[in-house]
Amino acid sequence: MTPLHRSLRLHVAPLFLAFAAAGVLAGCAQQGTSTRAGSPAASAGGGARPAYSAGITETDLRTRLFIFADDSMEGRAVGTPGHDRALAYITAELTRLEITPKGEQGYEQRVPIERRVPGDASKRDTIWSRNLIAVIEGSDPVLKNEYVAVGAHSDHVGIARRPVDHDSVRAFNRAAWEATGRDANSRGPTAAQRSAIRVNVDSLRALRAPRLDSINNGADDDGSGSMALLEIAEAFATSATKPRRSILLVWHTGEEVGLNGSEWFMDHPTVPREQIVAQVNIDMIGRGSAKDVAGGGDNYLTVLGPKRLSSQLDQWVRDVNQRQPRPFALDYQFDADGHPQQFYCRSDHYHYARYGVPIAFFFTSIHEDYHQVTDEPQYIEYPKYARVTQYLYDLTTFVANQPQRPVVDQPKPDPAGRCRQ
Ligand SMILES: [Zn+2]
Repeated sequence: MTPLHRSLRLHVAPLFLAFAAAGVLAGCAQQGTSTRAGSPAASAGGGARPAYSAGITETDLRTRLFIFADDSMEGRAVGTPGHDRALAYITAELTRLEITPKGEQGYEQRVPIERRVPGDASKRDTIWSRNLIAVIEGSDPVLKNEYVAVGAHSDHVGIARRPVDHDSVRAFNRAAWEATGRDANSRGPTAAQRSAIRVNVDSLRALRAPRLDSINNGADDDGSGSMALLEIAEAFATSATKPRRSILLVWHTGEEVGLNGSEWFMDHPTVPREQIVAQVNIDMIGRGSAKDVAGGGDNYLTVLGPKRLSSQLDQWVRDVNQRQPRPFALDYQFDADGHPQQFYCRSDHYHYARYGVPIAFFFTSIHEDYHQVTDEPQYIEYPKYARVTQYLYDLTTFVANQPQRPVVDQPKPDPAGRCRQ
């Protein structure tokens, strides 16, 4: 999820907390704090492979996310070796599962990304990154020429400018988030609320020594979506029966820079654009507990977008949810026209909708770790994450098996226009 300027300001922790701990740890080389899963292969290179099971499981998701959001991926900023390692992990899994590549060269589609030059914000340059694209071929001889796209973004925001003490920053941000009522609609804590926050560093130190952290692991944003997509890919690849339509799996790059990978893919699609009948976008689905969000809990899930182009897709989203063993309480509040958070314009589905493709965007809302070094895999709600992933697999299957593609009954936007929510 790309930031709104205001939502970033909400979470910036004061430096004095960082310095309080940094002094203690000066000279310590360790900069990250994410703990590794039991898996011996915590990065893409070398070591024994973890054993994955065919279906969508909490264990697989946990193993995958601890790898993908590991400190060794260095926050997955586009154009960095860390992002390359993260892409190599996805590619190795797609290869192992023998899933058909649908990029321009194997799974890859090169994407130019214009960005601010690191260290000199006044200059811009262009670097090249990569979308990863694969397809599960449909079982129907005619309908297999149509695609249900499922997407997530592989990139995140890299390494922070200066290290902070993980636990005290998180404690401060949690207190600040609670001061807002854990409400994504709030304008953030007031100056008075911020200055009233006191983090008891002594009590934190009683639990654990200070841990400097500078890596934005992006476990929820969007490690959760990227690994859900990989788990969905594995489930389709290992299933004996394939859906009638083909399933198009796209890991977009450059989402955090400005939705570059999805924009490029839809401007230069590797399948006929008009044959993409719907897109399911997964960006941040690992949180949303009652501690994270006002009104949150095990069944909390936010949806945006389906009715903006297709009331039929919107109905399917609800119908498939109702058939889940434990249906989610779908929250549509952020889909309102003119909503100040503008989430509809802040993730990759928008570039599909821009061309008139009906979309459904799922996430579990923002939280105190959003775009912080503390967005780490140990804070993910794994049982719920697995249920959301299963639901999105079921939804994708349902759409792919319908006799007709979802009817577009709302006006299409101007593909050359700007996003408006
Ligand atoms: Zn983001």
